[in-house]
Amino acid sequence: MKGVLFVISGPSGVGKGTLVKAVLSKREDIKLSVSCTTRAPREGEVDGREYYFISREEFLSRIRENDFLEYDEHFGNFYGTPRSYVERQLKNNSVVLEIDVIGALNSKKLMPDAVLIMIAPPSLEELKKRLLGRGTETEETVKNRLERVQYELDQQHLYDYVIVNDDLKEAEHRLMQIIDSEIDKRK
Ligand code: 5GP
Repeated sequence: MKGVLFVISGPSGVGKGTLVKAVLSKREDIKLSVSCTTRAPREGEVDGREYYFISREEFLSRIRENDFLEYDEHFGNFYGTPRSYVERQLKNNSVVLEIDVIGALNSKKLMPDAVLIMIAPPSLEELKKRLLGRGTETEETVKNRLERVQYELDQQHLYDYVIVNDDLKEAEHRLMQIIDSEIDKRK
């Protein structure tokens, strides 16, 4: 295996998607693994870009076929990392998974060399503002999501790195530094 598996997590709304996109747009040698989900697409989301949107039946059948490196259920929907894509890419490239804390810890068990990076919000208040500002979430969904945030942040000590996303440019710079140094270490 030539590449490094980077697993990036952080509460919903923390900006991890934006950060990951910024880094990947500059690096041909790092591939994003697009997860499968049974949740409905949000406005603007495209099948195969944000997620592969698949039915519950298909998801369950793929679980039985051991097609997921890891999977988890959030708010009644399944989310999973396609195993074959990740394994194939790692032969030549590094791979980024953008997944939740439980999925990240499960991936590390399966692939102990994985590098776990948590993106944390400057504060819970700030995160709440960002989630409501998105306009795609109801008050109720935001409340459910915030309840999960504390749990996720409490797992920080299990991560290799924590980046506080206070300033997007600085956070991007830090993420790039971490990625470069981890790739260098294994050369
Ligand atoms: P959202 O519905 O906001 O896109 O994602 C909800 C949660 O699912 C987020 O915490 C996100 O990181 C997580 N997630 C996305 N893809 C995967 C995956 O493949 N596996 C796991 N375990 N979690 C995922």
